Amino acid sequence: MGQPNDLSGQCICGAVRYRVQDNMAAFKLCYCSFCQKASGSAHVANAFTTPDQIEWLQGKEMLTSFDVPNSQVRRVFCCACGTTLPFETQNGKFLVVPAGSLSSPPSSPVAAIVGWASRPAWYDTALGLIEATRTEERTAQ
Ligand SMILES: [Zn+2]
Ligand SMILES: [Zn+2]
Repeated sequence: MGQPNDLSGQCICGAVRYRVQDNMAAFKLCYCSFCQKASGSAHVANAFTTPDQIEWLQGKEMLTSFDVPNSQVRRVFCCACGTTLPFETQNGKFLVVPAGSLSSPPSSPVAAIVGWASRPAWYDTALGLIEATRTEERTAQ
């Protein structure tokens, strides 16, 4: 299915499926307070490309969207399961792909951390635990 340089993605319930070219211009984590709300977690992980790079394979009619006021952001999600899915910015310039909706990682690595000063208070504790877990993992190998 698709070209070797395609990435595929889908929502949790499987109603919506898409394919996007693996040529992301940027891949960023954002910890700002807006992105905490958007993700329900400490940060979003978004890859950026252009709207002509996506092909909706299935369930496009299931997409629901919300244009965030005074912003380029449009929240797009599956109306059945609520999974956050790729969206075109309100000015039509960019396609923003939530990395977690992809079935395999983009080939470009995370290249920027945005909004770090706004990270939630619990995140540094979590980072310490992540580091301890990584150490255990290395020790076990
Ligand atoms: Zn769904
Ligand atoms: Zn943000």
